[in-house]
Amino acid sequence: KKDQVLEYLEGLNPSQRAAVEQTKGPVMIVAGAGSGKTRVITFRVAHLVRSGVDSFNLLVLTFTNKAAKEMRKRIIELVGPEAKNIWMGTFHSVFAKILRVEAAKIGYPTNFTIYDTDDSKSLLRAILREQQLDDKLYNANFVYNRISSAKNNLISAAEYLKNAQIQSEDTATGRGRLGEIYQIYSQRCFKAGAMDFDDILFKTNVLLREHPDALYKYQNKFKYLMVDEYQDTNYSQYLIVKKLAAINENICVVGDDAQSIYAFRGANIQNILNFEKDYPDLKVFKLEQNYRSTQNIVNVANSIIANNKNQLKKNVFSKNEEGDKIKVARAFSDNEEGKIVAESILQERGVKGLKFNDFAILYRTNAQSRSMEEALRKLNVPYKIYGGLSFYQRKEIKDLISYFRLTFNSNDEEALKRVINYPKRGIGDTSMERIIIAADQHKITPWEVISDAGRFLEQRSATAIGNFAIMIQSFQVVAKNQTAYEAALHIAQHSGLLKDLYTDKSVEGLNRYENIQELLNGIKEFSEREDIEDRGLDIFMQDVALLTNDDNDKNPDADTVSLMTIHSAKGLEFPHVYVVGLEENLFPSQMSINSRADLEEERRLFYVAITRAEKKLTISYATSRYRWGTLTSCEPSRFLDEIDAQFLELEFKNTQKTTDKNPFFDDTLASSKSADTFSKIKPNSGIIRKTTSMLPKAHIPSEGFAPSDISGLQVGMEVEHERFGYGKVINIEGNKSDIKATIFFKELGQKQLLLKFAKLRIV
Ligand code: ATP
Ligand code: MG
Repeated sequence: KKDQVLEYLEGLNPSQRAAVEQTKGPVMIVAGAGSGKTRVITFRVAHLVRSGVDSFNLLVLTFTNKAAKEMRKRIIELVGPEAKNIWMGTFHSVFAKILRVEAAKIGYPTNFTIYDTDDSKSLLRAILREQQLDDKLYNANFVYNRISSAKNNLISAAEYLKNAQIQSEDTATGRGRLGEIYQIYSQRCFKAGAMDFDDILFKTNVLLREHPDALYKYQNKFKYLMVDEYQDTNYSQYLIVKKLAAINENICVVGDDAQSIYAFRGANIQNILNFEKDYPDLKVFKLEQNYRSTQNIVNVANSIIANNKNQLKKNVFSKNEEGDKIKVARAFSDNEEGKIVAESILQERGVKGLKFNDFAILYRTNAQSRSMEEALRKLNVPYKIYGGLSFYQRKEIKDLISYFRLTFNSNDEEALKRVINYPKRGIGDTSMERIIIAADQHKITPWEVISDAGRFLEQRSATAIGNFAIMIQSFQVVAKNQTAYEAALHIAQHSGLLKDLYTDKSVEGLNRYENIQELLNGIKEFSEREDIEDRGLDIFMQDVALLTNDDNDKNPDADTVSLMTIHSAKGLEFPHVYVVGLEENLFPSQMSINSRADLEEERRLFYVAITRAEKKLTISYATSRYRWGTLTSCEPSRFLDEIDAQFLELEFKNTQKTTDKNPFFDDTLASSKSADTFSKIKPNSGIIRKTTSMLPKAHIPSEGFAPSDISGLQVGMEVEHERFGYGKVINIEGNKSDIKATIFFKELGQKQLLLKFAKLRIV
């Protein structure tokens, strides 16, 4: 057995191996992309199990359920089926499971509902309406984000109301009632037996803080903790980990500050810095070799991230082949960009004998998938979109699930609102309002009003409402006595939902009906599983709100091109990667360009995108794009300008002129016939607008910088760069659109820039 242990440790370099073998005490690895952080966690878990640690004593926290699934598969390969016992998953899925067990301690029913974002916002909208608040000042999204960030910083509604600083800030912006809304929202969730996403972490903290017995129990259960992607944890998550690790202090976290991309959701880089303070005897391991990517890709990534001021310095290098240079493709329109990418995939695949699986297209925003999808479909390239709307979020699925929710937790107000009059049974909005008012008056839940409708409501509506309550009660009996599948089918039929969908013979209607069938099939499979003891519909329901589209992937091994946002690509790798839409106001996004912190987060996002590529990276941008229904012209992203030009290869398709006067915007493109979007509009019709003119532009160091005509640039000239400051041209090489200048900057030293992108002027 000892030999086997050694054998698999050989798949690690000396620093990785040292981190794997350091099983006791606090361990931290902060290292660049592709350096084997996730591999260290995987092997470390395997090593612990091999060394005799009980697999029930391990807790591994990953960023997605999919990542946990893949890691588990890997560990099973290394140590066998014993690995099935390991607690492994996202913070949300692991702690939702624990909260179900401990629910009574914090006053929740075991069958508490998890409100997804839509449920939460719908409840907030109802509250804002009831309170008659201005929906511009108190926009539901805005209020939701405020409450979310309060919870992630462990500020309860009561504390929010007591906090003088928060109160004066809210009052100053005319939103003095936010605290009150937070409080009403929390009470309504509590009464409905529901937790929202942030509550899962918030209530876990409450549980561990107020119930020392529970804290002690889990401290002893999870003797070894490991956290991947630690840079993206928020304060609430940080505290949970810290508390659980307090007795044994066997905690290992891995992350990369340069890949922190969830600050907007409360992720806090401070958690990495705190870690050193929290554990003075911390062992830190450095990983510097990137095993994922070619040298060119690693070098490009390094040259990008060097532009961020806030970062922990680290060295990342690759000993893999040098690889192709990074291609930059320019398109006239978003549609042409799709075409260029789709054609390139087909060509590369043909020439190199690759699979579609070897390719990924990454974009900044979900909306960009449309032009990519269209182009791929035209060329019959199979693809799969990751992330996006979850199967469980589709209307018909959520309707049926709401019936299930109500069956197990009849106080679930959002589920009730969804189905009380669907399919139509004559219980209109007014009736629903009366129910809510009666519940408020008598200090009971809406369900208590409904189940005694004769007493609380007028005769006119009481009959229909009473019948609805009887129906739900009959579902409760069925759910208790039958298998998950039988119960689900019964509810789908007797609620009238299946029939309602069946009578709709439109394509969409058929589609919805099929989706319901698919859900029922899934439940059937679940009913027949032999590896778990509890197979009731209530158990099936528990995690549904936490599942994403990717968890529902019916055919994970299909040979398809992967499409996803950069945010969902974190931790993944693909041989060939296309990062599309490198344009100002798109990437970096419009929201980010006025603050350094936000801009640096966008740059980290770009770093994440680039570092997904193993063999070949292609970056593209369009000079015009449909956004919010109008054709807007775009200029290349400042990030292109930051890439060290020696690693780039330009590939401009359909370019009529090779040396543009103005490298950022060429008006002559508007009359070009080669791009399909342009053929539909007349030149100068006013449809084309410069995005730059709509927004103040962010020039970071020098105010009012305007790049000048640099076609006459010569060696020896003095220049000023938008961000790099003053410098002197020491070399010019290349031709046509591929001219590179080597410039010696006073502050930064030597840099090679592509004049195409350089925001430069002659001084
Ligand atoms: P990210 O920051 O993107 O999450 P990471 O640091 O977690 O990256 P991994 O995903 O663990 O990196 O590793 C990147 C790739 O390199 C994987 O394919 C992994 O199997 C491989 N790899 C890492 N270390 C080694 C090694 N010592 N020998 C061979 N392959 C390795
Ligand atoms: Mg990783």
